[in-house]
Amino acid sequence: MSTSSSGTTSSAFVVALDVGGTSMKGGLVSDSGAVLLSERRLTPRADGPEAVVTAISDFISHLAAAGDGAPAGVGLAVPGLVSEDAALYAANLGWRDVPATDFTTLDIPVMLGHDVRTGGLAESILGAGRGLSDFLFLPIGTGIAGASIIRGEPYGGSSGWAGEIGHTPVFPDGEQCACGQFGCLETYASAASVGRRYSQRAGVEGAKAEQVVTSDDPIAIEVWDEAVEALSLALATYTLLLDPSVIVLGGGLAEAGPALFDPVRTRLVKRLAFREAPPLIPAALGVDAGMLGAALLGWRAAGRPELGPDWTVDVRSAPLVS
Ligand SMILES: [Zn+2]
Repeated sequence: MSTSSSGTTSSAFVVALDVGGTSMKGGLVSDSGAVLLSERRLTPRADGPEAVVTAISDFISHLAAAGDGAPAGVGLAVPGLVSEDAALYAANLGWRDVPATDFTTLDIPVMLGHDVRTGGLAESILGAGRGLSDFLFLPIGTGIAGASIIRGEPYGGSSGWAGEIGHTPVFPDGEQCACGQFGCLETYASAASVGRRYSQRAGVEGAKAEQVVTSDDPIAIEVWDEAVEALSLALATYTLLLDPSVIVLGGGLAEAGPALFDPVRTRLVKRLAFREAPPLIPAALGVDAGMLGAALLGWRAAGRPELGPDWTVDVRSAPLVS
């Protein structure tokens, strides 16, 4: 803690929390980007929307108490439709119009961010997109959603729904997606979909995407080929629309490395006739992107939006404490 010239005390850390449907990752991050503490707790989604809000508030208080003095701010990355000061709608958590102030009992400024866009903010300022003003951050995990970084900031669109590239239709009249539409990218290319589609066709239970990607079984090759095709179609469309300098692939499926990057790159290059394909590069911050982005939001809430560009982040995963 330091004392400002006005005589009031100011804190040198914020509380950062990345709220997922399964677990929440929280930490304390200093004004120089040091992760002073990081912990993970399960999200009590089965207990209802209010229980999750209470669990977040308890987690924030717990983290804040571990710091030296009071935190300067709180940054929260949450799923769904989000504004800076309210979680407007989250289907998987049952939220509707939850104000940011409901997430903590502490008297400190809070800023909310959309989970994927907050991860994109972190990749933009601290990770693979450092120094780039326009790129796509595309984590491929259980689902697929992107963050369009435009002029250095994640773009939310007119109503906050920007980035739903996972639900762009890539195959006309294709398989129905959980969202209700047909032929969505996510239905073919998310890690969950690759595992599910192989399981259905091969008549096995619970296949994982990582097994499908590396298998030489003809059914696996076919399922993976369709995933690659779907991704290259969506990325060609994105490239033509927004001219990204790079495409940053993250999430669990990006762990497949060359087995993902090489065929998608080849097909993307082939699809584009009159312009070059942007390089595909791996995300740098892994599962910490959301929490680190939330820390940047916490510092913005505290009136320090300039923090971040000179941080050196030490990326490591937090143990699960529940
Ligand atoms: Zn869909």
